[in-house]
Order: sequence, then C-alpha cells, then structure tokens
Amino acid sequence: MMTGLQIYNQLPKTNCRKCGFPTCLAFAMAISQRRVSPDNCPDISSEAEKLLSEAMRPPMNKIKFGLKHNEMEIGGEEVLYRHERTFYHQPALALLLSDTVSLEELKDAIETIRDMDFELLGEIFKIDMLAIKNDSRNPDIFSECAHLARDFPLLLISEDIDSVRKARSVLKDQIPIILGDSSEEWIEFAHNADSVLVIRGSSLDELAQKSKQVQSHHFNNIILYPEVKNIKEALVTFSSSREMAIKSNCQSLGFPLLGRAGKDLVIAAHFICKYAGIIILETTDYEELLTLMTLRFNIYSDPRKPLMMEPKLYEIGKPGENSPVLVTTNFALTYHMVHSEIVTSHVPCFLLITASDGLSVLSAWAADKFSSEIITKSIKNSRIEDKVSHRKIIIPGCVASLKMKLETESGWEALIGPGDAPMIPQFLKAHWV
Ligand code: SF4
Repeated sequence: MMTGLQIYNQLPKTNCRKCGFPTCLAFAMAISQRRVSPDNCPDISSEAEKLLSEAMRPPMNKIKFGLKHNEMEIGGEEVLYRHERTFYHQPALALLLSDTVSLEELKDAIETIRDMDFELLGEIFKIDMLAIKNDSRNPDIFSECAHLARDFPLLLISEDIDSVRKARSVLKDQIPIILGDSSEEWIEFAHNADSVLVIRGSSLDELAQKSKQVQSHHFNNIILYPEVKNIKEALVTFSSSREMAIKSNCQSLGFPLLGRAGKDLVIAAHFICKYAGIIILETTDYEELLTLMTLRFNIYSDPRKPLMMEPKLYEIGKPGENSPVLVTTNFALTYHMVHSEIVTSHVPCFLLITASDGLSVLSAWAADKFSSEIITKSIKNSRIEDKVSHRKIIIPGCVASLKMKLETESGWEALIGPGDAPMIPQFLKAHWV
C-alpha cells in the first residue's frame, strides 16, 4: 500500500481544490485512508490514476451476498492483526440444515432460529444466515427448502447442479452462495445466476490454482474453502492464506475464506480469530452461539473506537418513584459493571448514562466530559424528575469533588457512591433499602 506522500507525488500538486479538498496533500491523505478514490481529481493523469487505483486496491476482495435490500459483506480485510488498524467484516455464522428433514420440521427449525436474539452491549444480534445441504439429492425437495428459508441469506450446498439451479430459481430477492463444484459449468452458472461460488481445495496451492482459473473466466465473486482436517491444519492454512493475500499481495488468495466447524465450538472459535469469512455450524444451542458471538464481537470491534452505550436513562428491574438514581459514563465496560452489580443487589434502580465519548469515569472527569454541567444536562434531558419523587442522585465515589457544584447547578442532592462497582449492592442496602 502506498503512503500519503507517495500518493501526493502522483498528483498534479496545483492545490486547485476541484476535488473538494483544500490541498493535493489533504486529498492524498484521504486516498491513503480509502475515503476517496483517485478519480475524484479531474486533472490526474491516466497513468497516475491507473497506478494509484491498482496500488490502493484492497489486498482482499470484498464479497457481497444475501438479501438484496440488506446485503451482507465479508472480506475486504487489510491487516493481519486487529491492532494494526481494525478488522472490517465479521464472519457470518451459518447454521446448517439438511433437506432430508420434513418440511414441517424444517419450518420449525427456521422459526426457532429466526426467534433467537443475542444481546451484547445493548445491541441485538441474530443468526446471520442458513446453509441448506442437499442430502436428498432431489432438486424439488432442495428448492422447497430453499424457498422456505428464503428470508435468510442462504448458502446452498449441493454437488448436483440441477438441484442448485432449481433452488436458485426460487431465490429472486437474494444473492446466494453456492458450495458445489468449480468446474466450468458451475462457474458459468454462478456467473449468470448472480451468485457467489465457493471454491474448495485441500491445499493452498490447489485453491490458488482454481481461483486463477475461475478468475480467467472474468468471474471473481468467489469464496475459498480450504478443506482442513483438524485445528492445527486450520491454523496453518487459514493464517498462511491471509498472510499471502495481505503481505505478498497474492491475488489468487485475496478472497474471504469459508470454514466448516460442525459441532466443534473450539474450531469455530478458532475460525473467528483466524480468519474465516463464513463459518458453518451444526448447533442451535443458545449458550454456544452466544459464546461465539461474544468472541466475534470482541475481535471485530474497532480498537480505534471505545465501546459505548447510548447516553440515556436505563431502568434496571422495575424502578418506581422512590427508587435510587445512579449516574455514570457511557463507557460500555463501566455501564455493564454497574448494571450487573445493581442486578445483584435486587434493588430496582434508574441508571443515568451521560455522553462521555466512551471514557471511563476518571478519564471522562479528567477530560471534562463527566462534569457537573454534563450531569445536570443529562438529568434534565432524561426527564427523570417526572419519574421519581425524591431529588437524590448517586455519583461515583471517585468523583466526589463534583458534589457541591452538582448540587448547586442541578438542585439535586448528590450522594457519594462507592468508588468501585462491586460495592454498589452493599451501598444500596446501607443507604437506600
Ligand atoms: S483536484 Fe487534483 S490537483 Fe486539484 S487539489 Fe485536488 S488533487 Fe490537487
């Protein structure tokens, strides 16, 4: 990848502002961060544009699939390690269903999966997609199953092209992924049927060779599936593939990877860490899926942005007009520690979360983002005054110095709460219950 200065050297350097940036250097920096494309400069030479477009091409292709009004994306990754920048597209979890079960059973299974909600840091996650396997080898049954599951992004698994053809015909509103073969007939079909094709291979050499062959048909809507036998092989193969794509710019391996974890939670976790774009699972166990989603959430959160909660008034339990009101910052970890201690205390509470740029209490206080003015404003905006009959607010013990100013500005009595979240249950019992 080129640096901002190397990009700048390819630009006209007239600072004419036609690109919308004040200088060519600012435009170069924006290109290096992939925020704009080189052709936004109308005066760039065609050679420079070609050179920059080629150099700035992500080392891994981004693949879009799924429901047409709500497409999913995988790939497009630029780094080997999350701390180098971030990972952009989390792996999709695909639950495997066979077309040999009855349609009623399949319907029930789909409904169960549809109803599964996974709450992480205030966000609700669902199962991303379904993988339907054509064990019946019957095109009619396979297409009926695909039709039943058509509200989910689908991965169609079959070695029978007629079955896939028929299933594809009932999926008008989505771009499915097809896992079958990668012969010319399948490439042509996937190309014409606006589908993504999975290329499988037992080694990286085989995958690279097949990928080149598919791309020679001017088709690059592909996902690579290294058929690994165990976790050790998965570690070596998936890591080497990513490394060759990112570090050596190996274009034939610059595609998302598919991993089959089956019922093995450990290998599924491994695929989340390194480096699958799609993971096929054979489980509907809520705890197992929640564990995987939590791991995925952690790996794929952007290390450049703190995890934050929405600043607002949260009700924990069923608080009433006499319930305690606590206040803290919107750093997600702070919120969850305080929330879980309130739950442990069995005292229903109002928890007021202020807008503090995702900083913890002391950091926010030091940066003047958790001040008496901000807390007073949050009290007013939250309308907590309409919900409780008292005017007492519990502030974190480590910012006791805010007490006097807060009381003057808000008209509320500020009770100095504990300095550490684990002391909250004891504090509430001693001062409130
Ligand atoms: S339009 Fe081109 S020449 Fe003009 S400022 Fe932007 S990058 Fe520079």
